[in-house]
Amino acid sequence: MSVVIALQDVSFGYNRTQILDSISLEISRGEVLSLLGPSGSGKSTLLRIIMGFAAPSRGLVRLRGDVVSDKGRVHTPPEERNLAVVLQDLALWPHLTVEENLSFGLQSRRVARDEQKKRIARVLAEVDLENMARRYPARLSGGEQQRVAIARALVLEPDAVLLDEPLSNLDIGLRDDLLDLFASLFEQHGSTVIHVTHDPSEAQRLGDNVAVMDGGRIVFTGNPGDLDPEHESPFVQLVCRHLQDQRR
Ligand code: ADP
Repeated sequence: MSVVIALQDVSFGYNRTQILDSISLEISRGEVLSLLGPSGSGKSTLLRIIMGFAAPSRGLVRLRGDVVSDKGRVHTPPEERNLAVVLQDLALWPHLTVEENLSFGLQSRRVARDEQKKRIARVLAEVDLENMARRYPARLSGGEQQRVAIARALVLEPDAVLLDEPLSNLDIGLRDDLLDLFASLFEQHGSTVIHVTHDPSEAQRLGDNVAVMDGGRIVFTGNPGDLDPEHESPFVQLVCRHLQDQRR
């Protein structure tokens, strides 16, 4: 299976403080990887490096085989990386309608008008928002805004979708519904996804695989069922207890 995102020995620091320590990861086409770690473990920093907003101080980043960043340098800027991101605050454009929010990125990628219309109609149907195309974000519920945000990412047909805890502020019922919707959308689109979360159940539900981060290092990659309850990382031990309690 082809590798979409590859990180090789990536380190990063602010001044003298090491934030990321020799991170190596590969995400294959169609894989959903949950990046699970406590607050402050370096998850968002890693996403910023993948997006091209920061350069690694050591190591390199490849997208579809091409080196896009390496030691201290961003070779391919964010707008030239075919990636889509959904952030915790969603960052919808308040002065644009739903359909304008979706067409914005397509215009800057010079997608033809007819193709834009086709893609927008298809994705709005998939997230069940066909009737809200002309609404402004302020007139949508929290769940509807989430569906616009994921639609805006998928309509770009990006090489990968990066999710930075978009569901963490929602109540449990809504979050469960959206997790199901996201999972089925990713399957339909064959999306390659990195899903950042601090919540073990969310990581397990959405991810084909889980990479656990602690203190700027990846301490585990694989199926969360294989996590060792005696692992030296206190966060891994916590995740094991959480998943065990859930099975009871
Ligand atoms: P996470 O997403 O896992 O919560 P972050 O990547 O946001 O973690 O942060 C990792 C560490 O980097 C934290 O200790 C944070 O305080 C530090 N950090 C983040 N941004 C900056 C910055 N601009 N300057 C200095 N330290 C920062």
